[in-house]
Amino acid sequence: MAAGFIRLIGNLLVPDGILFFIIVCMPAFFPLHQKLWPYAPYYPYFFYIIAAALCWRFHKDRAFFALICIAIAERAIYYLLAAKGGRIQTDALLYDAIGVVLPLSLVVFEFVKDRGVFTFWGVLRWILILAAVFFLGSVYLKPEAALTIAARDCLSALETDIQCVLPDPVAGVFFLSLLALAVRFLVRRLAFETAAIWVLILLFLGLRRTENAAITAYYASSAAVIFIAAILETSYRLAYYDDLTGLPARRALNDQLMRLGSRYTIAMADIDHFKKFNDRYGHDVGDQVLKMVAAKLKAVSGGGKPFRYGGEEFAIIFSGETLAPAKACLESLRKAIETTKFTLRGFGRAFKRKKPPTKKTPPRKTVKITVSIGVAEKTDRHADAHAVIKAADKALYRAKRAGRNRVAT
Ligand code: GH3
Ligand code: MG
Ligand code: MG
Repeated sequence: MAAGFIRLIGNLLVPDGILFFIIVCMPAFFPLHQKLWPYAPYYPYFFYIIAAALCWRFHKDRAFFALICIAIAERAIYYLLAAKGGRIQTDALLYDAIGVVLPLSLVVFEFVKDRGVFTFWGVLRWILILAAVFFLGSVYLKPEAALTIAARDCLSALETDIQCVLPDPVAGVFFLSLLALAVRFLVRRLAFETAAIWVLILLFLGLRRTENAAITAYYASSAAVIFIAAILETSYRLAYYDDLTGLPARRALNDQLMRLGSRYTIAMADIDHFKKFNDRYGHDVGDQVLKMVAAKLKAVSGGGKPFRYGGEEFAIIFSGETLAPAKACLESLRKAIETTKFTLRGFGRAFKRKKPPTKKTPPRKTVKITVSIGVAEKTDRHADAHAVIKAADKALYRAKRAGRNRVAT
């Protein structure tokens, strides 16, 4: 429970939260050098273009469209205010309307699927953005139009006595958007879900009525930096983690092998008769079993670090550990897997049921899964970690031959 909470906070803060605090504190500690001031208006393009290109390349279309919205809104504010000598009051309605539309578009694009930028679904999104631009443009250009008056009335009707840096309705939309993104983050704790939260807070800070469009530009383009960090985080996970089980993958194992000290123990685990199991219940059910076994491996005691070696084989590294204690941990892991009744979700759904299921007989099937484990400790006989893995593999073969569902050395 406590560990889960710490992991949740860790997901939220590393790296996007840390980046957020750096972004917020940086102007105070490192003000932009005067010589660079003339170039400042062009910086946002630099970040928007890099971030959008990366999002597009990595098929993170939701982030791509969110960025387009942020860039259009911020550039509009920048040029309209710059044209008027930086007086926001004259454009207050536009500012507030952007404050409503921008967080909402961030939420919309967070909840849809990545469906391409120039596909049918992508074109629908472009149309949605164009509609928003049209709405904001008419609010700005036609102060007496019915739509503008309705927008103004709507905003003033929602004003309350609460004092906030933004008008109440705008702050309210930000707050509700934050709630929606927080729920999304709790469900899917991935890089872009985390990034969206920090981006929203940056936009909130950037849309304060500071009478300085450069502040909006600073926060909005920093939002692009957060998206770039999310892309890097995602590609790191793609390279080092296995998508199905969430365990570190072969590449991560190879890196870890290079960093081991002089004392360690490595185990190789392999699911018993997995091929038969796959043939009988199907590949999807096989995948479920892999996930469930991975969950057990993650909980292995004695500081063991599990990796998906490939297929239904896993490696577990006990850094700084000798054979006997590691073997004891592996024995309890093996027992834990053997005694867990794996419920096959979805099994049987494909078959036609004669009667609707009653409460007494839920349509579930449980099966027993076992693993065989081979384990080897680093000694002078082994030239390097790969030799230890080979020794563990040989021990695994012995465990299989001796009848499976056992730990062998
Ligand atoms: P043994 O007890 O000797 O280990 O028998 P086994 O059937 O487990 O061993 P074998 O190596 O013959 O079969 C491994 C099977 O694992 C073959 C393949 O279909 C399955 N497999 C490998 N990767 C995946 C995967 O990602 N998902 C699923 N569902 N099955 C996989
Ligand atoms: Mg195998
Ligand atoms: Mg196997």
